[in-house]
Amino acid sequence: MDHHEAAEHGSASIAPGNKPFDALSLRGWLAHLSATARVATIDKHVSLKHELAAIAKRLDGKQAAVFLAPGDHAIPVVSGFMSKRAWIAEAMGVAEKDLLKRFRDAADNPLPWSEVASREAACQQVVHTDGIDLHALLPIPTHSEHDNGPYITAGLVIARNPRTGVQNVSINRIQVHARERMAILLLPRHLHAFQKEAEAAGDALDVAVAIGVDPLTMLASQAISPIDFDELEIAGALHGAPLPVVKCVTNDVRVPAFAEIVIEGRILPNVREAEGPFGEFPKYYSAQEAREVIEVTAVTHRRNPIYHTIVPAEMEHLLLGAIPREATLLSHLQRSHPGVTDVHLSVGGVCRYHLWVQFAKKREGEAKNVILCAFGAHYDIKQVVVVDTDVDIHDASEIEWAIATRFQADRDLVLISGAQGSPLDPSTTVGQPDDVPSHLQGISTKMGLDATRPVVYAGHVFTRVRIPGHDAVDLKTLVAADNTGFDTYLSQSR
Ligand code: MN
Repeated sequence: MDHHEAAEHGSASIAPGNKPFDALSLRGWLAHLSATARVATIDKHVSLKHELAAIAKRLDGKQAAVFLAPGDHAIPVVSGFMSKRAWIAEAMGVAEKDLLKRFRDAADNPLPWSEVASREAACQQVVHTDGIDLHALLPIPTHSEHDNGPYITAGLVIARNPRTGVQNVSINRIQVHARERMAILLLPRHLHAFQKEAEAAGDALDVAVAIGVDPLTMLASQAISPIDFDELEIAGALHGAPLPVVKCVTNDVRVPAFAEIVIEGRILPNVREAEGPFGEFPKYYSAQEAREVIEVTAVTHRRNPIYHTIVPAEMEHLLLGAIPREATLLSHLQRSHPGVTDVHLSVGGVCRYHLWVQFAKKREGEAKNVILCAFGAHYDIKQVVVVDTDVDIHDASEIEWAIATRFQADRDLVLISGAQGSPLDPSTTVGQPDDVPSHLQGISTKMGLDATRPVVYAGHVFTRVRIPGHDAVDLKTLVAADNTGFDTYLSQSR
């Protein structure tokens, strides 16, 4: 990878200056949304317990919600500022159809960050290191009915590999259960590997939790990249310029300098405390378990910070997972099957479990190979539907139409039982006792549907009905301003 080339590539396709907003900060994006009637401001007092999340959920996918008086706090809370694909494409500066390609280009051409001094870093304008009380400092909501207290749901957790020093960025759910202690869920990925490494040596792992960053940095944090690949470099590539970062006040972790709020701390070795239940992305609760613990060492923020919360399982949460995954899945499938033209993780499949694939089939049987390839790409994928290129895979009714008219279950269905699936899918636990060890959880059946038509068919049996000229009709020039002409005709014939 040549960083010089990457820089030219990145800036050629999208420079931050080309956008009608300050792309580097959350507040720049929010000002843009506000100027285009996409922000709903709630200035009445709202409770942090359930009420704030309830209102944000009602606005999900329509407008970003800004709460000016959350709980007893002076810090506003924002939610839902990236809850539509079109908005995310706009933040990237591309057409919606080019979203995945743009994300992939950025992931393939990362840009190293540039470090700025503390005095230039907005996120360190105010520094708290003594007597920290997270509940008093920050407006942290409790979201769902059975959640075990307030949760940080939109924090970019940044840590350094104890062996190599390379950073990792991920979003982890964090339960704030004491003034300066938080329990964190570590799934078996990179942050978890760093923590295991540090813990084996008897060390704490330094971390930072950045809250309130722009949509592109949020998205970059969700890239499915190899270990020792700093996701902040993808954020730089998406922005078309190196991301400005600053060293934390109490450790060596580098955080986005324009973040609204940063919580600094250390994951303690050999300490576990209760976390959960918590309502997760499949719209079910994760059970209470003993989790790793972050001891907070500092809280830094802008002079007038904004706190970001993601309402679990709503569109902001789902799309944040979907777009980086789709970009990765598309490149995975295309490596073996160049005929794959697009992929889509459906909202009904919680943007994780159901994958729709658009494919230019050349030979019979190929669609089943694509199905098998998709199952191997990520354990979360439970159902795959492969359709032809005349089917719009961003429209659920088009997929249903393809299944209704191009699929026969006895010859086109692929079932693979006993495979690894998502442990958060509650149907994988049916018939299991409560105390099943983790290595036996998430066993799932994969289902693939080949809903492609035959490569060769007689006459027009599989030709989609089309009306010539339909696409070119320009209603603006054809339709009269009012119905006077028709009304006159009706009155004459009475
Ligand atoms: Mn990573």
